[in-house]
Amino acid sequence: MKYLVFGLSFILLIAGCESKKSGPLTSFSEFEDEFVDTLWKYNPVWASSIGYHAYDSVLPIPNETTTTAYLQFLNAEKKALAGYSYEKLTPSEKCDYKLIEDFLHNGIFSIREFKANEWDPSQYNVGGAIDAVLNNSKATLETNLRMLAGRLHNIPDYYQAARKQIKNPSREHTDLAIAQNEGLSYFFKSALPDSIKKSNLSVAEKEQLQAQIDQADEAVASFVTFLKERRALGDKAAWRSCRIGKELYLSKFRYEIQSHYSADEVYAKALIRKKELLNEMYGLSQSIWPNYIKTAAPSDSLQLIRETLSFLSQKHCHKDSFIATIEKQLPELTVFINSKHIIDLDSSKPLRVRKTPEYMAGVAGASINSPGPYDKEQATYYNVTPLTGYSSEKAESYLREYNNYILEILNIHEAIPGHYTQQIYANRSPSLIKTILGNGAMIEGWACYVERMLLEEGYHHSPEMQLFYCKWNLREVGNFILDYNVQVNNWNEQQVKHLLVEECFQESAEASEKYKRALLTQVQLTSYFTGQTEILELREAMKKKESQRFDLKNFHEQFLSYGSAPVTAISELMLH
Ligand code: ZN
Ligand code: ZN
Repeated sequence: MKYLVFGLSFILLIAGCESKKSGPLTSFSEFEDEFVDTLWKYNPVWASSIGYHAYDSVLPIPNETTTTAYLQFLNAEKKALAGYSYEKLTPSEKCDYKLIEDFLHNGIFSIREFKANEWDPSQYNVGGAIDAVLNNSKATLETNLRMLAGRLHNIPDYYQAARKQIKNPSREHTDLAIAQNEGLSYFFKSALPDSIKKSNLSVAEKEQLQAQIDQADEAVASFVTFLKERRALGDKAAWRSCRIGKELYLSKFRYEIQSHYSADEVYAKALIRKKELLNEMYGLSQSIWPNYIKTAAPSDSLQLIRETLSFLSQKHCHKDSFIATIEKQLPELTVFINSKHIIDLDSSKPLRVRKTPEYMAGVAGASINSPGPYDKEQATYYNVTPLTGYSSEKAESYLREYNNYILEILNIHEAIPGHYTQQIYANRSPSLIKTILGNGAMIEGWACYVERMLLEEGYHHSPEMQLFYCKWNLREVGNFILDYNVQVNNWNEQQVKHLLVEECFQESAEASEKYKRALLTQVQLTSYFTGQTEILELREAMKKKESQRFDLKNFHEQFLSYGSAPVTAISELMLH
């Protein structure tokens, strides 16, 4: 359900990198290669996390020098990029060009205007830097530990610099930073000491490493104390709002979502779509009700929809067969897609359903684990968290949410032909850029688009299924509306709950979680609705352009062939 966007990691900087090689570059692909090489030098933690391990021993200190050097890098790349004539590039390169351009603009915007380094203390967290190296399965444990020594060495300086960066934090981001940094003791108290014990390092090496771990642990603890002391000042300290306000929101939306619409324009579309969905759900509920329930239907439309959904939610699998049910549904999807000529599915890259691994535990539900750009040959996993450990009440509530209807839609979104299929097409694209800087709105938009498209094509079609699709779609629409309103219009928890519980039929606990997420992050929640809206509009435009020649399968395959590029860039290439 979640797609990790890595393009925001401007805190992961490195000072003292050599500047770009001088001299003219002959081709755009050479420029791209150099760009990626240099990008990793400046972002070693990001590099480790996607499977590029050349800089595993490096941890940049988040200080002025580092930021200045990174800004220079971004500006130099911007200048170099401008040296290429966009019109002369191949279609695939054009997409890359746009992705790099927006990445650079976003990076410069982050440093110059957004300045999260000053107000979001949760930016300072070395968990990812340790995790990505410790879990690198391509190297031996000893190599990983020796690499980590380099990072551990810098941790005290890292947190010293972090304190100086924080100027006007928000309460919410401070609390998040405290909780996350306290969680790091897992590495210092168990994961790292245990790994050292298991390793074949010499006694001297082990002792040295253990001393570094203790120092790092201390540095993190004192950073946490620093944050807690500030938090204890309460109203005596100046706190920034965790909401970024309209101006920054519009800019962030522009650089991250990369739509040809502004946030305001898509917001207006979301409000219209919400109304449409509620009308459709009212009609469906009116026709479904008498088939199941003898008593008179409620006259209030929202009440009728809520009760119809609640009745149908009883249709769900047993808590012990959650994974098995998902496993059984996937082949049905494949058969349907092949028989209806919807898109070519690459059968040589099978999807493996598995129990969510322990180290990823805590992430409920289901998610796709695709191989990164540096290990394309690895299998794709569909991680499903089993419910066997849940209490019966918790399992019941969860299963009512992920009932038979919603589970089908979830499979379409996560797996076939959603994220999994899109990833296969993206990995065929020879350019690293689209995998590294992939556009989140395109990726989520595609997964949301195919939910609707498969039902349109008749997959397991019934009024009941359509009703749950509407509920699911309402969640995507609701994500946009609440993100915009929390960040721009200061919505409080009551307002968010009214939207999600009363008008989108979600559970109160889910709405509270969503509110917290909307306070701490900005814009990402808009990617689902924005992406699908743009893809649907592109499909309509293509139908108009090709008229009789329009073919749905061709449309899908051509759309995905550009990789995870912004929908706007793909549209331009497909329409002109
Ligand atoms: Zn998704
Ligand atoms: Zn039940």
